Amino acid sequence: MKIVVLKFGGTSVGSVERIKKVAHIIVSYINKKFKIIVVSSAMSGVTNELIKKSKKISNYFDKSEYDVLVSTGEQMACALIAGRLRHLGYKSQSWMSWQIPIISEGSYGSSRISFINKNKIMKFINSGGIPVITGFQGINESNRITTLGRGGSDASAIMCAKFFNAQKCIIYTDVDGVYTTDPNTLKNAKKIKVISYEEMLEMASLGAKVMQPISIQDARLNRIDVDVKSSFVGKTGTLITKRKNIIRNRTITGITSTKNDAKVTLVGVKDKPGVAASIFYPLSQNSINVDMVVQNISANGKETDLTFTIKSEDLSKTQRLVKKNTKIKFKDLIVDKNVSKVSIVGVGMITTPGVTYRMFQALAKKNINILVISTSEIKISVLISKKNLTKAISVLHKEFKLDK
Ligand code: ASP
Ligand code: MG
Repeated sequence: MKIVVLKFGGTSVGSVERIKKVAHIIVSYINKKFKIIVVSSAMSGVTNELIKKSKKISNYFDKSEYDVLVSTGEQMACALIAGRLRHLGYKSQSWMSWQIPIISEGSYGSSRISFINKNKIMKFINSGGIPVITGFQGINESNRITTLGRGGSDASAIMCAKFFNAQKCIIYTDVDGVYTTDPNTLKNAKKIKVISYEEMLEMASLGAKVMQPISIQDARLNRIDVDVKSSFVGKTGTLITKRKNIIRNRTITGITSTKNDAKVTLVGVKDKPGVAASIFYPLSQNSINVDMVVQNISANGKETDLTFTIKSEDLSKTQRLVKKNTKIKFKDLIVDKNVSKVSIVGVGMITTPGVTYRMFQALAKKNINILVISTSEIKISVLISKKNLTKAISVLHKEFKLDK
């Protein structure tokens, strides 16, 4: 049996009109003789509204009640979709996670799906039904609703594809695929036809907001092909798949950037073992994620400067923690919020020498100063001044022939 999971994001079900359109998309797959499982997110804006309300009730709104509250958006969207399908004469029904059940584990607000019981849904599909399943939620061992983190209905869709052995998982969203770089920043960004899980994971974590990063990890672990498409235009989207399915003709697949980084430099810290650990210990204790790190060599062998980046929303907390840290001494603390991280991503760089040089040379030609560098097997990131961001993306896009 050919099962396809169709997932609709918030904007795709953002209004009654759009939900009617979504019903037509679903019907088009039914007409092609597929068995369909629909997973939906909440109508756009609904989850945000619910979160706002919880904050008005209490700054310390109970975490488990928070999940009960924010998961209601999906219930509404699913009932509307199923209702429309029934209106059109199809057998359809909405399903909440506890009715299936979809089992989750982990903390409220950021749990993961660990198991989905197939029985009821399969029975329904085999009787000709179209199940419409709430994304973003599961129930935990205490039988309480949990949510999967913002954007978590992507993960729901991927896990449905896994447990129901689907041929494919199609993510309908408001963009028609994954682009070589943000088309809002660069006009000649091109749609990527096929991308590997690893590249997509890097791109998603580095700021390409097409899919929830955790969901891509789930897809990679379970080898599930994911198609990202727009529900507004009928074009082919981007296929996220295994590396070996991809014929590679480019070194770099995409360029991403972040705008909300902050750079922190500790000037004149002691250059001796344990200093870096002492600096980062309180940050880790306070769940502050340190991204890029660079330490200068010390000219006199005694003192050095240490620079690292964090999310700008963590800056004041970080400053406080560094200042009150009695384990370290330093001469000055310099912070900069006007920085951006630009990254080039591509599996092709593993086998192509000279990529780092080409990136740095291209930036140098445009007089763009590199502040911090970090690399992984398939990514090179540089921190630059925010004012140079667009220029940097554009020159790198050209250098690696992404507009071709
Ligand atoms: N409705 C949830 C959110 O806004 C889940 C999702 O959209 O995937 O984060
Ligand atoms: Mg989403």
